[in-house]
Amino acid sequence: MTERITQLNKEVSAFCGTKAPDIEDFRIQMLGKKGKITLLFDDFKQLSGDEKKAVGQLLNQLKNLAQQRIAELKQKADDNDAPAHSIDTSRPAAGNDEHGSRHPIAVMRSEILAIFGKLGFTIAEGPEIEDDWHVFGALNFAPEHPARDMQDTFFIDTQNADNPTLLRTHTSSVQVRTMENQAPPIRVVCPGRVYRNEAISARAHCMFHQVEGLYVDKDVSFADLKQTLLYFAKEMFGNKVEIRLRPSFFPFTEPSAEMDVSCSLCGGKGCNVCKGTGWLEVGGCGMVHPKVLQANKIDPAKYSGFAFGMGIERLVMLKYQVRDLRLYFENDVRFLRQFR
Ligand SMILES: [Zn+2]
Repeated sequence: MTERITQLNKEVSAFCGTKAPDIEDFRIQMLGKKGKITLLFDDFKQLSGDEKKAVGQLLNQLKNLAQQRIAELKQKADDNDAPAHSIDTSRPAAGNDEHGSRHPIAVMRSEILAIFGKLGFTIAEGPEIEDDWHVFGALNFAPEHPARDMQDTFFIDTQNADNPTLLRTHTSSVQVRTMENQAPPIRVVCPGRVYRNEAISARAHCMFHQVEGLYVDKDVSFADLKQTLLYFAKEMFGNKVEIRLRPSFFPFTEPSAEMDVSCSLCGGKGCNVCKGTGWLEVGGCGMVHPKVLQANKIDPAKYSGFAFGMGIERLVMLKYQVRDLRLYFENDVRFLRQFR
């Protein structure tokens, strides 16, 4: 039996199959149910106690050797079978850990919404392709108002002369849609993209972003508007900021005002950013015109409201000193990655 073990040891050591099926055949030959080594174990059971002692260890060594040798050869064969340039497509790309950055418009948009969110304003959104009624008619624009001119507004379909389809020129259309669908109290902010027929330059673009706000309830006053805007300005530009409201005109508010914030760069002394005035224009606001409430079936005798609107690009410009509007839409990574 010892001789047989020595011979099989040699046989196992000498085996050097390189192909998986050959190695499997060899395994069955040695360790299969009727394999040479397996059969030796059957013979081993017949031996006397002393013989078992002498042979047992050798037999186990042989079995271990065979198992080890087969495992090694199998591993080698597997490696050889793998394609030379195998690619693991699930692996993360090596050496490229550069992440994208958020667009300044998106950063500012969420900053604005978060501030008004603290005052209980919820977000309302509406379509960018609108009709005349929601953009102009319901907002008290006179039929001959210049905003309705082709030179100011992108019209899409003018077949229906009474209510043509157009790209919204402001997000006030969302205020109208909110009033259509919701009874007061209403407290919403409407962020979104708007379009105007303007030649593209550093100071004007045919597309930009606005956030408008609308608050309609019983006994809403101009003082509420002023406090809301002051709160916003302090949250956005810091506690020292002051606001100034200048009388203005919009068809949809009465009275109307332009809102300025004190220039945070020069502290109101005057610099080239605020053009020496100490003030920066941020947006427009006013008390919702009774005719607008009426057009949206809200009783102006019972309810009043205020509305305000501001350009997101304008606020980014004031906060980060970006002077050219075109940069926002060119998607130049050298510009964008400054806003991580
Ligand atoms: Zn200044």
